[in-house]
Amino acid sequence: MPVPSADQVIPVVNRAMCHFDTIVFSRDWHESDHCSFGMPPEFRDGSWPPHCVQDSPGAEFPGSMRVPLDALLISKGETEESYSAFGQTGLKEQLRAKRITRIFIAGLATDYCVRATAIDGVRAGFDTWLVTDGCRGVSPESTQAALAEMEAVGVHFCRSEDCE
Ligand SMILES: [Zn+2]
Repeated sequence: MPVPSADQVIPVVNRAMCHFDTIVFSRDWHESDHCSFGMPPEFRDGSWPPHCVQDSPGAEFPGSMRVPLDALLISKGETEESYSAFGQTGLKEQLRAKRITRIFIAGLATDYCVRATAIDGVRAGFDTWLVTDGCRGVSPESTQAALAEMEAVGVHFCRSEDCE
């Protein structure tokens, strides 16, 4: 699914990952007739172009993305749409089991999955940080609104160089 300048997050995330012990990759993992696929897509809630169809190239991580062998993989939204990586994925429990209290989030898209994951991270009791240069949004307006909403609930912001 196209997000403007999405490729620019790859080197940022690749670099920042070196500084963390636990890495989690989350991905949409949709059935081919998923409820969120709209024709024509509106690029907002409930109406997206087909994306991240299970076992298709569109669901693969980009070849230039470094995916550590021991990274936790969270697949979400098989039938329903699920923006948050915390939505019925067991992620909260897995992080708690590792005694993790602080999380840093980067990825796509700032105004949808990143927003929902960050807000759920705060709700789940994690000290939650958004790596701003490691994220890109679908539209400038909804991205601004999402950043304000995240800040209001207690998400902290940093840049990737702060992770070093
Ligand atoms: Zn999706």
